[in-house]
Amino acid sequence: MNDKPQLTLVGSGLAGPLLAIELKKRGYGVRLFERRPDMRKVKISAGRSINLALSTRGIHALRAAGVWDEMRRIIIPMRGRMMHAVSGELSFMPYGKDESEVINSISRAELNIALMNAAEARGVTIEFDQRCTAYDARTATVHLRDEETGNERVLESEVVIGTDGSASAIRLALQTTLPRFNLSQQYLNYGYKELTIPAGPDGKHQMETRALHIWPRGSYMLIALPNIDGTFGCILFLPFEGKDSFAELDSDVKIRRFFEESFPDALRLMPGLVENYKANPVGAMVTIKCAPWHIEGKALALGDAAHAIVPFFGQGLNAAFEDVTVLLEMLDRSSHASKTGSGGALTFRWERLFAEFEAARKVNTDAIADLALENFVEMRDKVADPRFLLRKKVELALEAKYPGHFVPKYAMVTFHRLPYAVALARGRVQDRMLGELCDGIERVEDLDWKRADALIRRELTPLGELQSA
Ligand SMILES: Cc1cc2nc3c(=O)[nH]c(=O)nc-3n(C[C@H](O)[C@H](O)[C@H](O)COP(=O)(O)OP(=O)(O)OC[C@H]3O[C@@H](n4cnc5c(N)ncnc54)[C@H](O)[C@@H]3O)c2cc1C
Repeated sequence: MNDKPQLTLVGSGLAGPLLAIELKKRGYGVRLFERRPDMRKVKISAGRSINLALSTRGIHALRAAGVWDEMRRIIIPMRGRMMHAVSGELSFMPYGKDESEVINSISRAELNIALMNAAEARGVTIEFDQRCTAYDARTATVHLRDEETGNERVLESEVVIGTDGSASAIRLALQTTLPRFNLSQQYLNYGYKELTIPAGPDGKHQMETRALHIWPRGSYMLIALPNIDGTFGCILFLPFEGKDSFAELDSDVKIRRFFEESFPDALRLMPGLVENYKANPVGAMVTIKCAPWHIEGKALALGDAAHAIVPFFGQGLNAAFEDVTVLLEMLDRSSHASKTGSGGALTFRWERLFAEFEAARKVNTDAIADLALENFVEMRDKVADPRFLLRKKVELALEAKYPGHFVPKYAMVTFHRLPYAVALARGRVQDRMLGELCDGIERVEDLDWKRADALIRRELTPLGELQSA
């Protein structure tokens, strides 16, 4: 039984400060420990230029925490994908049915800084250079090492939440403490590298600003997302080894030649490509599924610490923020129940909260992990295929005719807050349906509406009212 215990959060990345803001608002004492130095004072290169696509689920969580207005200044809405053929020909595919359905480019570093500023402004203290090296559930202690001095300390804490990302120390503690801990960790044989397209001489973007640019090349791809300073943050995805891989690009000449052959129009905008390429490391991408996410009511893993996914649906951050939404809704409900229950004391049980949270979330985070893996093939390969483009048009036509019944998979995940597991299940049914309806037609005008009508009535129940941000 707890009466507003002091909470310890490990990891001040994206979910950590957001959760801290929400807990502080509810009167909890919150200590936040981060292993890196303070990025507002020290330049951290890796991960600095990465942009993330922020969408409905993430925006909803930011709005609920009262910090969305502070974030609006640092986002650029992207209306769709701009595909770049090798010839330089451009084609644009909108993400949604209209201008209200956009995803938002935001620099990871800027978002991290804005969240930490907002957390501190609301009274949260963040201690930097503090690496959690272990968590001991028996003694309910967090072990911390100061990365600057090497000093170690042990901190007692009734409740610890690990928001420490995909290499989580708190998840490792769950693994080593719990007798039947399930863990699956699946690395892609692809890596990624951050690159930059600088601003033009006028300080403006050198390509269409309100789009996510993609150079899909079958087995690999380059993407670029706009930054508010006129630059584009690019990510190159290649296999680690084999043909057209990072291993192959082992000299300046090979790097340049590869870009000349694969991405000639991007190369023209990247005068510093070779230096930029060599300065940045190759990152790995992993899907992590695990259970349980908590040790009794003492420690919980949340965000990437509990469920890291590959980045191809642009949902890792959004899912981590949705974790915060769900945990807080449950916390509020249980606080209310215990306040209004017999005795009137604030006596909800953290163990039950953590168990309910995991039960509600895991099925959904497993689903988005699978959707993200599937979307990799779509992004690097299918978006260049005319049959795929036709399917996208048919999807939009079906959505317009059957709103609330047929919602494209991308929209269910990105523009609504439907549980991810529902999006996955309905998406599979809709994929089959689209396969049937698009078979043998060349244009959306040739769609057999009678058949579509019958299929939709037979296979899809109404979705009811859809929630957005
Ligand atoms: C290339 C790439 C592109 C992506 N694009 C998108 C996108 O477009 N949209 C999207 O929604 N998501 C995207 N993601 C995923 C997104 O970045 C993550 O899902 C999100 O950052 C998870 O937030 P988090 O707070 O759980 O973890 P993190 O943001 O990783 O934060 C973890 C924090 O914990 C700290 N930490 C780690 N270990 C310790 C320790 N032992 N002690 C103390 N502190 C520790 C870390 O330094 C870090 O600050 C992308 C990821 C990658 C790699």
